[in-house]
Amino acid sequence: MTVSEQSGQAQTDQAQIEQTRTEQAQAGRPTVVVVGGGYGGTAVAKALDETAQVVLVEPRDAFMHNIAALRALADPSWLPRIFLPYEGLLRHGRVVRDRVVLAEPHRVVTASGQEIAADYLVLATGSSYPFPAKTDLAESGPARAQVRRTHQALATADRVLLVGAGPVGIELAGEIRHVWPDKPIVLLEAAGDVLGGPYRPELKAELRRQLAEFRVELLLGSPLRELPPTEPGELGPFTVSTEAGAQVTADIWFRCFGVVPSSDYLGGTLAPARRADGFIEVSPSLQVAGQTTVFAVGDVSTADAKMAGFAGRQAALVAENITALAQGKPDLTPYESMGVGIAVPIGPTGGAGQFPGQDELISREVIAELKGRDMMVGRFEELFGLAAATAS
Ligand SMILES: Cc1cc2nc3c(=O)[nH]c(=O)nc-3n(C[C@H](O)[C@H](O)[C@H](O)COP(=O)(O)OP(=O)(O)OC[C@H]3O[C@@H](n4cnc5c(N)ncnc54)[C@H](O)[C@@H]3O)c2cc1C
Repeated sequence: MTVSEQSGQAQTDQAQIEQTRTEQAQAGRPTVVVVGGGYGGTAVAKALDETAQVVLVEPRDAFMHNIAALRALADPSWLPRIFLPYEGLLRHGRVVRDRVVLAEPHRVVTASGQEIAADYLVLATGSSYPFPAKTDLAESGPARAQVRRTHQALATADRVLLVGAGPVGIELAGEIRHVWPDKPIVLLEAAGDVLGGPYRPELKAELRRQLAEFRVELLLGSPLRELPPTEPGELGPFTVSTEAGAQVTADIWFRCFGVVPSSDYLGGTLAPARRADGFIEVSPSLQVAGQTTVFAVGDVSTADAKMAGFAGRQAALVAENITALAQGKPDLTPYESMGVGIAVPIGPTGGAGQFPGQDELISREVIAELKGRDMMVGRFEELFGLAAATAS
């Protein structure tokens, strides 16, 4: 045997030893199948990795850190930091790269026909949102190319229209303004104010004030008669008018509204838990309505507002509740919402927010510190075992 053959053999032996150790360690542990590897699913999978046999089923080749997706559109040098490969997430559990097409209590079936049995099932399939905030592409290579192509179109565009002045529209306006200080931006909203949701009027007023400071033209209170004729993110001049008669001319636009829960795979006794609006009804302990061993977390569930931070809190609770059930303890911990809170950056240095239970608005400096400067990438690189690699 040559030296390189010997070293190859040693690596194979080591891998087999690791595999045997993992199998021995996992024997007798419950199998937890987590459907969806977004913010909620990865957090549940990680939390149970040492105590359960975790199988994470996810069609993408990499986690998409969509919180920083708008930053990456304006500045594609951020791209490597928003697609994080799943390989470094779990020590013991496995990631099955596939889409679940049918989930029933105790089993899922994937698009490729694999059937995976489960003692416990966690539904964490989240929601879809128009590009560039999220993408439908499961391969990160083409997804990166999609961002670069759209960045190029945006760079060439003379005027930008953003339809929807919720958190995504406001944030995208800030990202574009930071990179292109002079590009005219119109932010259009059918409702009478920015942000929507149950947020404080003072917060909305502060965001309006900063948008004016950043020279983003706000058109509030009237919907478009019809959407522009071009596809969102594609270059091409158009003029559209609002119901109130205002005209907007631009040569690129983005759709900044439209969260759609991903829940079309519920079958058998799980099906009734899917509401008419697509969200999955859960109990206070985050069990899917009518179920003991099936849980749902994050955007797809009815538990709370649609935020990654809340998905993470729900994930921790579900891990705790599954552990309790597996130990024969029927008393589960209920999920308690923290209340209303949001952080809205406007570029790396602007923005405002409100936190649950705090009277004062959150200043732009604090928003920049918490989110705007690094878009929370460090925290997720660490979760995916990439912190050291990026630092070096
Ligand atoms: C631009 C932007 C900025 C944001 N900023 C913040 C912020 O600052 N703070 C905050 O708390 N929240 C923020 N949010 C909200 C946050 O992104 C969502 O709440 C979060 O994505 C929800 O996480 P999730 O795990 O429930 O779902 P997702 O992140 O949507 O993940 C779901 C996963 O499930 C997979 N999946 C879907 N269907 C299937 C299937 N059938 N089988 C297997 N897998 C499937 C998907 O591929 C995906 O990977 C932001 C959102 C956007 C768009």
